[in-house]
Amino acid sequence: EPLVELDGVGKSYGNVRALHGVDLAVRPGQVTCVLGDNGAGKSTLIKIISGLHRHTEGEFRIDGAPVRLNTPREALDRGIAAVYQDLATVPLMPVWRNFFLGSELTRGPWPVRRLDIARMKRTADEELRAMGIVLDDLEQPIGTLSGGQRQSVAIARAVHFGARVLILDEPTAALGVKQSGVVLKYIAAARDRGLGVIFITHNPHHAFMVGDHFSVLRLGTLELSAGREEVSLEE
Ligand code: ADP
Ligand code: ADP
Repeated sequence: EPLVELDGVGKSYGNVRALHGVDLAVRPGQVTCVLGDNGAGKSTLIKIISGLHRHTEGEFRIDGAPVRLNTPREALDRGIAAVYQDLATVPLMPVWRNFFLGSELTRGPWPVRRLDIARMKRTADEELRAMGIVLDDLEQPIGTLSGGQRQSVAIARAVHFGARVLILDEPTAALGVKQSGVVLKYIAAARDRGLGVIFITHNPHHAFMVGDHFSVLRLGTLELSAGREEVSLEE
């Protein structure tokens, strides 16, 4: 059963119809790629799924049940996490500290007990390694990492805090060939851990490297919705 399903979903901003009649499914262990030019409706689509906007037509289901999310918090509570390009990281803070930023674990009386810090570092290290992310020093400020590595940390963090669906908005757009490769590798790692991934991209090549399903938006409607086998060149 799909984790997330859109059935004829649409969204109007006043008179502007940004999205119309969109069907989409996100399954565990699969990458659903969403492609399309500027203005095609990609942002509107992910804002609906991540709880920032409400749809004005059709049905949005999580685990088979119709929902209407009011806030990103509600989406997170259902296991839907969006990782945006401008990551919510504090550049001067150590990698491990960023890993727990905004989490329950870092709240409470300051300073955090020494024991907790040791445990947080160990947890961050374990989670990063589980995703195949090897950093030699978790004490280094996250701002010293490459863009690809920072996104990787954000992906590992979302996985650790219970994400079942990962929304990645143009994660490779600002990156070069090598860094894009790093991010694509972690998208595959998230998929292999059973997450459903929504990968928004302008780059068909990147999409094809990790995608299981391809949805192309044009002027707010689906121009193409096809599985990998349907668009493959192989027999
Ligand atoms: P994309 O992310 O693919 O560039 P968007 O979802 O941002 O596309 O935009 C889809 C359409 O909806 C565009 O025509 C855009 O101008 C319009 N649009 C997006 N957000 C708003 C808004 N808040 N109010 C009015 N129109 C909007
Ligand atoms: P919701 O969270 O209910 O989806 P939005 O935040 O998308 O609502 O916007 C609420 C209303 O405000 C929309 O229906 C739209 O008409 C108007 N609106 C929001 N952003 C813009 C914008 N950039 N330009 C024009 N109208 C907007």
